[in-house]
Amino acid sequence: LPDPDVAALTGADLDVLLPRPRNESDKYRRGVVGVAAGSDLFTGAAVLAVGGALRGGAGMVRYAGRAAPVAQVRSHWPEAVVTQLDAPSIDRVGRVQAWVLGPGLGTDDWAHELAAAVLASDVPVLIDADGLTLVAKDRTLLRRAAPVLITPHAGELSRLIGAGRDAIEAARLDHARRAAAELGVTVLLKGSTTVVAEDSRPVRVNTTGTSWLATGGTGDVLAGLAGALLAQGLSCYDAASCAAYLHGVAGRLAADGAPLAAGDVASALPAAIRAVTSTN
Ligand code: AMP
Ligand code: MG
Repeated sequence: LPDPDVAALTGADLDVLLPRPRNESDKYRRGVVGVAAGSDLFTGAAVLAVGGALRGGAGMVRYAGRAAPVAQVRSHWPEAVVTQLDAPSIDRVGRVQAWVLGPGLGTDDWAHELAAAVLASDVPVLIDADGLTLVAKDRTLLRRAAPVLITPHAGELSRLIGAGRDAIEAARLDHARRAAAELGVTVLLKGSTTVVAEDSRPVRVNTTGTSWLATGGTGDVLAGLAGALLAQGLSCYDAASCAAYLHGVAGRLAADGAPLAAGDVASALPAAIRAVTSTN
């Protein structure tokens, strides 16, 4: 029997949920995403997260980071508005409607201070990757009024809730639910299927993906995409479920039975959105 507390999204659901630009839209009102990601060691994560956000329909993407990822983001994405940070602060970054925090950010003191600054803002924040490592070490970072969406894989969730990786893999729905309740956040648990959990909502399970997505950088694209949906006004729960669905479809389109690189998933996002939306 189907579990009433578990639901799956369909393409028809996405057609209803996904925002479209309206006649009176301008780039600011379509959703401005801030991306705090990348470091000297991991410049690519910044490029991929910005790519996911741009192709996910953001009106504007504001990238903020250190010199090395700034140079890479500038050369890959002339569309992004880039701020090179001399201090771990977001004061010089313009207004955003949602933040993506963590891919490739590093876990040094500078990264911790930037994470604290982003989480002190009053807009929804998506936390991924190194951002999750910082939060696992310092739970006080999660004390905020505005919504938080976390996007861990089993290893990252394991550090956050102190459960073993294998235990999580063996009972993914239960652990995603438990993490959502314990941390007071929305959880998108990645893996061969993706589980979205939020307190007092049915767990959503997404199976649109393909195992070709198991390659470096695809999670960074997902983070950018979900951030763009948050900035466009979707709740954490809907942004996470729609992002998982579209990322899976884009992965299938990009792979088509052969290897993909993470950037290909970002490139395939518009085709994935086209495939589920009827009219604009
Ligand atoms: P990350 O773990 O951050 O590198 O993100 C990997 C992305 O690829 C997530 O969106 C996963 O859900 C997806 N993924 C990884 N392995 C598989 C798989 N075997 N089947 C489908 N999707 C996968
Ligand atoms: Mg990742």
